[in-house]
Amino acid sequence: MGKSAQSGVTNGDPEEWQLVRLVVDFANAPPPSKAAEAVEAEERFKGHPFVEAKRFHGLAGTLDRAGSRFIGSDPHSVAAAVENKLEYLTEYWTDIRWALAGLAREAPSVRSAARQRLVARLRQALGCEEDGELIEGRVNISFRPGRGLRLGFIPLLQTAEQAYFYGLALLMDSGRDLARGFTQCHAPMKKPGEGECGRFFWRDMRRQRYCSPACTRLAARAANVCRQQRFRRRRG
Ligand SMILES: [Zn+2]
Repeated sequence: MGKSAQSGVTNGDPEEWQLVRLVVDFANAPPPSKAAEAVEAEERFKGHPFVEAKRFHGLAGTLDRAGSRFIGSDPHSVAAAVENKLEYLTEYWTDIRWALAGLAREAPSVRSAARQRLVARLRQALGCEEDGELIEGRVNISFRPGRGLRLGFIPLLQTAEQAYFYGLALLMDSGRDLARGFTQCHAPMKKPGEGECGRFFWRDMRRQRYCSPACTRLAARAANVCRQQRFRRRRG
């Protein structure tokens, strides 16, 4: 993704891209509304190199694979935990979509304002407030010909909140270049009155405006209808 960056700006390691994509995929789907979806929303990070699977506090320990039955403990308390989780995940979903929508706007001042408004939320989620809970990490020193010596920090994320907001922070980071071409699809939905697609994606080289060929067709159709209406009004 993207060409080599200007000096001082890196365009991200594959692991960083992978985490950012997990976050954007979450934002592009409807918010989780069932236990199984809550489990999936947390478990999607397992296997990612930034997540410490053994110590990751997820829901899966209390639910069976399908997320429908409770293992061991009192069903009522687990049901309350699921309810609570769904509430949190919906809150993350709302916060993340709001941040992404700001970042996807064309105007640099809007992008900058979105970044500025997010600082406190990121500090809170990632424990960098003064009394915040610390997150653990590992220092990594690598050398690749052409890229030279790089000093990095590899976080060891232990909750879904940390994973979602670390991924979001990577995308919002002005020192990285992961948000280049990041945008939102404003194609109308198939049925009139149902709003717009709203999917987030990275534009390719052709300055693509919509997220898919289907959305491009829908937008072209809507523009056509508009043109015809204008034409009729002018003649009528
Ligand atoms: Zn679309």
